[in-house]
Amino acid sequence: MKAIQIQKNGGPEVMALTEVVVPEAAAGQAIVKLEAIGVNFIDVYQRSGLYPVELPYVLGVEGAGTVDQLGPGVEPFRIGDRVAWVGVSGAYAEYAAVPADKLVKLPEAVGFRDAAAAMLQGMTAHYLAVETYPIKKGDAVLVHAAAGGVGQLLVQLAKRRGARVLATVSTEQKAELARKAGADEVILYSEKDFESEVKALTDGKGVNAVYDSVGQATFLKSLECLSLRGFLVSFGQSSGKIPDFDPAILGRKGSLYLTRPSLFHYIADRESLERRASEVLDWVSKGELRLHIGDTLRLSDAPDAHRRLEARKTTGKVLLLP
Ligand code: NDP
Repeated sequence: MKAIQIQKNGGPEVMALTEVVVPEAAAGQAIVKLEAIGVNFIDVYQRSGLYPVELPYVLGVEGAGTVDQLGPGVEPFRIGDRVAWVGVSGAYAEYAAVPADKLVKLPEAVGFRDAAAAMLQGMTAHYLAVETYPIKKGDAVLVHAAAGGVGQLLVQLAKRRGARVLATVSTEQKAELARKAGADEVILYSEKDFESEVKALTDGKGVNAVYDSVGQATFLKSLECLSLRGFLVSFGQSSGKIPDFDPAILGRKGSLYLTRPSLFHYIADRESLERRASEVLDWVSKGELRLHIGDTLRLSDAPDAHRRLEARKTTGKVLLLP
């Protein structure tokens, strides 16, 4: 089968379409024939070496498809089941071996492409808005990179929970998408100082929470946007690693909270995975959470998908088709 493998860390050029053997199902595993593959920023970090992986490595941690083979001990799955998963490597391929306890069955109303678009970014938006900082009616929150994959979904969930949503994006086209997702105020942080814009839009008070996936370029200013005892949820570093940070700053700026959460700790056990996935997939099937699939490329074009993602050219979800 074909897979996108890396032999060393580096730029998109290290990603090679390689012929590898179809995996055999070990105990507790299913072999899934992929129909749609999710591209995520974590793939870029693993490719570049920011997040270390054992080489050679087949990229991709999110996919949807049908169960093609089963090892022993994989109740309740059957061959032919429509499934999706997140957090197991090897998804940039035609087949992947996935531990059955990481698989979720797809509702009939959710297609493979929507499933591959919803699992990682949908469950991330879910835990961020519902658990990391549980957004309350009447809150004001700031969502950076609001036209991105997580961004558009987080804006929708924040609105659904009754917040006033301030959003940042880099272009007018992205601003339109953020507004469509429900943002009340959109700031072009490529042109304007988002800290002064947030202060002006909140009568100097600041927001209850900032969801910051941009990292290096926004982190310190995000702290300035918070009201007293506000929450900075730093969940990514699309612009680069955040420099070392003195926690005393949190005290000086108003007894602020800082957390650096990861989806994988919010779906660490079967119960949390099933609960979160079923809620997100249910909202998707009812049209209550709208997915925006901005790019769909062939598996062989995976290096281009990474180039586009890193150059800030994508909106919403990026998918690969095997
Ligand atoms: P996005 O679709 O949001 O793409 C990244 C966006 O970040 C860009 O489109 C761009 O939007 C913005 N950005 C700002 N500066 C840069 C830069 N220098 N280079 C590239 N992009 C930049 O990606 P995802 O939705 O897949 O992921 C968003 C972030 O969330 C990533 O950092 C990812 O690692 C993180 N994440 C964290 C999770 C967790 O549990 N902790 C889970 C899922 C994702 P604009 O042009 O508008 O600035």
